Amino acid sequence: MTDKVNLLDYDRKSLELYFTEMGDKSFRAQQVLKWIYHQGAVDFESMTNLSKPLRAILEQNTCITPPEIISEQKSEDGTRKWLIQIDGGNSVETVFIPENDRGTLCISSQVGCPLECKFCSTGQQGFNRNLSTSEIIGQVWAANKALGYFENDKRIITNIVFMGMGEPLLNYDNVLKAINLLTDDLGFGLARRRVTVSTSGIIPEIDRLKEDTNVSLAISLHASNNELRNDIVPINRSYPMRDLLAACKRFTEARDNEPITIEYVMLKNVNDSLQDAHDLVDCLRDIPAKVNLIPFNTFPGTNYTCSEIKTINAFRDVLVKSNIITITRKTRGDDIDAACGQLVGKVMAKAERHQKNRVELN
Ligand code: SF4
Repeated sequence: MTDKVNLLDYDRKSLELYFTEMGDKSFRAQQVLKWIYHQGAVDFESMTNLSKPLRAILEQNTCITPPEIISEQKSEDGTRKWLIQIDGGNSVETVFIPENDRGTLCISSQVGCPLECKFCSTGQQGFNRNLSTSEIIGQVWAANKALGYFENDKRIITNIVFMGMGEPLLNYDNVLKAINLLTDDLGFGLARRRVTVSTSGIIPEIDRLKEDTNVSLAISLHASNNELRNDIVPINRSYPMRDLLAACKRFTEARDNEPITIEYVMLKNVNDSLQDAHDLVDCLRDIPAKVNLIPFNTFPGTNYTCSEIKTINAFRDVLVKSNIITITRKTRGDDIDAACGQLVGKVMAKAERHQKNRVELN
């Protein structure tokens, strides 16, 4: 069983290659993808447009195994959080946020996160490993299954954000294949603008993402000067703000100046002064961007507190007066610890975090 290849690890191109290398036609890939992502099939017996001998070969050598939901929590506001089993000791969290005009699924890309942003619960939890493509796209498959998509053929998940556990651009190849499956008509068929990759600023991979995909970009900026960002988003020491903002500009230029999203968590007396707001305006002077102000969501052991609402409003007003579209993000699912920065899952091998961090970032 464990030697079988999981077909959820293949996007269209790699699955076509799989079939041609076994001496079959590449369009078999298209048939199989439709079964998996349109019909929700996990067994080959139901794939009636494949010959019986081919089904037998697939049965013998491959499997379709999405990760398993092991528990679910429902918030009073309709947000649902699933704990998803990854392997023996590890699990990640995936969050569904229903709104009037959309349903957003926030997915994880790593077991934990090596980057240790100070205001983020995931970052304090340690890092185990990257998720495979099947474990990333499998979160979307499992959520669709739980929401009844395959039975009713009614799209409930309309938007995907890579804002769960982990830094997606440190797991580039697997995230890229998952993006391909999200936006492929034979996969989940989402419009490119409805898929957003959020990064803390891995500059070389921002440039790759610009070339390899046409999805949207969000930057976890959270500070308006380099010194503060060095402190609260430590990856900034490897990729300083000035270089990050230049990469953002390149990205927007390649997208006909379509705005990117800037995420800015509001931390009381840390990054929320009017001077910080004016500095942020300066940072974004040449970059088409909209700003999401995120009221800080607390977690056990943190020293940070959320800015007061009047401070957030004053900060927002400075940006708006400078013609920057600014939204204060509504906190969703905080009664089940599903809000931004609160995801934890279960992460093994915490002690290796610092060593791993140095290896991957330098
Ligand atoms: S904010 Fe994102 S990149 Fe930073 S520690 Fe949390 S999950 Fe990792």
